[in-house]
Amino acid sequence: MLIKHGIAVSPGIAIAQPMVLGVEDYRIPRQTIDHSSARSPHDATAAEVQRLRAALDKLSDEIAANEALAAEHLGKEAAAIFAAHLLLTRDPKLAQEIEKLIREANHSAEYASSQVLRRYAKSLQNLGNSYLAERAADIFDLERGLLRHLLGEQREDLAHLTAPVVVLAHNLTPSETAGLSREHVKAFVTEVGGATSHTAILAGALEIPALVGVGSFLADASGGELVIVDGNLGQLIIDPDKDTLARYEQIRSLQQSRQQLLRTSGEGIASTNDGVRILVQGNIEFPEEAAHASARGADGIGLYRTEFLYMGGLRERTEEEHYLAYKEVIRAFGDRPVTIRTLDVGSDKIPNSLRPVLQEAPNPELGLRSVRISLEYVDLFKTQLRAILRAATGGDVRLMFPLVSSLPELRQAKMILRDVMEDLDEEGIPFAGDIQIGMMVEVPSAALRADEFAKEVDFFSIGTNDLIQYTLAADRTDPLVAKYYNAADPAVLMLIQNVVRAAENAGIPVTVCGQMSSDPKYLPLLVGMGLRQISVMPQAIPVLKDLIRRISVPEAVEIAERVRTFETARDIDLFLKKELDRLLALERSTPALAETY
Ligand code: PEP
Ligand code: MG
Repeated sequence: MLIKHGIAVSPGIAIAQPMVLGVEDYRIPRQTIDHSSARSPHDATAAEVQRLRAALDKLSDEIAANEALAAEHLGKEAAAIFAAHLLLTRDPKLAQEIEKLIREANHSAEYASSQVLRRYAKSLQNLGNSYLAERAADIFDLERGLLRHLLGEQREDLAHLTAPVVVLAHNLTPSETAGLSREHVKAFVTEVGGATSHTAILAGALEIPALVGVGSFLADASGGELVIVDGNLGQLIIDPDKDTLARYEQIRSLQQSRQQLLRTSGEGIASTNDGVRILVQGNIEFPEEAAHASARGADGIGLYRTEFLYMGGLRERTEEEHYLAYKEVIRAFGDRPVTIRTLDVGSDKIPNSLRPVLQEAPNPELGLRSVRISLEYVDLFKTQLRAILRAATGGDVRLMFPLVSSLPELRQAKMILRDVMEDLDEEGIPFAGDIQIGMMVEVPSAALRADEFAKEVDFFSIGTNDLIQYTLAADRTDPLVAKYYNAADPAVLMLIQNVVRAAENAGIPVTVCGQMSSDPKYLPLLVGMGLRQISVMPQAIPVLKDLIRRISVPEAVEIAERVRTFETARDIDLFLKKELDRLLALERSTPALAETY
């Protein structure tokens, strides 16, 4: 039995035989053109160029089909990833560069294609930006697709499997991930990849357990044995021993029956057993997820990360495109609240249109990102604000600025919003002039001065993902410092408590929308600290609503008080896990059960 650890990007337990996809999928048999069957060298070169063009055409058709598949299953924004691939394969410059190598260097079509595409990928990787380095995977995807068409080989077709499998791969490209058979692929694990790659984003939308960034393990796995993927603890277990297998089978069946039981838990409002309502809203990235979040029981959208509108495309979005996306979300939620966050680009999320400026940032997490970009690129900001204000006439819409770190910054953002309202007014365009304006509290400076900020906004939303990294100086995407990044750290909890207290004093609502609130372990603590709203991953909603109904506010307050007596994140973490076990009446002998909840 071998246990490997990785970054868990989608929760759940899967047990199945592995399907191992190799690092080198297509071997290139010849580096030069085969002249043996041609009448003249000229004929052989012409035939080679012809082969290349036919393969490029076939690949383009295939990507167009993938685009349609993604649009149908995952929505327009996921499909945009393939639209970008398509632009490249249909770019005459790409064909010309490969043809040049065929004609001038006598390279075979396969070798020439591989040389050109790998050069593209390498230049992306060498730009020293993790987001762009992830995009190199897209180029390797195209290379493999092209080689498959040139060599006529069929890689095992991931879309047409007949038995359940766990896919193990060096890397899975976005197209392979979107094409996975939902019926038969029970999980996937990759050696490389970061939590912010497109692949990770798509894993969540597919709702199968997934781990990325596990490091090298393919040499240790082969078909035939069993593997366990624990998407909660971030573990891959190859060839488990009898006891481990039995334990995980038990966890899995518990999880399945619990899911069955919880099927209806998302419905209706969730109040503690002493009658205090806790609002459980959903976090979404793509407008198409709104309907899904609603079906899971979201009481509203607490965080709509609009920057994903930008991620797949090659150009800026128009006001109309923003407007239509927002309308789709608002329509799905009727009179329930929808909180639209203005663009949070920069750091790891860089749209193509801003790459030339942002990719050189020496420390992107501390650089030009988020609301700072909106204040720098006022036209971009105004386009989005116009669309939000127009769309907001059709529902209970709130607007939220991300990563606010000082009062002048907030005031400037609000001033631009007022300008936009004046413009719309002058143009006679209907808009929501009374929209509620909130801010994310995700920088320690904002958490510390929450009392002052509370006088100038209608609500707070605590972004713990960033708040933790800025408080503890631990990059949220770097596995090397993962042990320093902990939501249970007393310093983080003190900042959260300060924000909740300031909001209570000012009489404004406060939510936690970072990943911390999706983890059931933290729910009693957050309620005990005074939170009455959370915004979470849609798939966690039924579980959290069920848990809310099992606790009482005095019990939660007692948990929060006990937590204040501990000195380290580790002690707090252990205590909260035990408390969760107790609340769920789970056996102490299988603590991992709490993770399945
Ligand atoms: C956060 O930082 O907690 C948050 C919700 O924002 P994001 O994860 O999009 O940075
Ligand atoms: Mg954030």
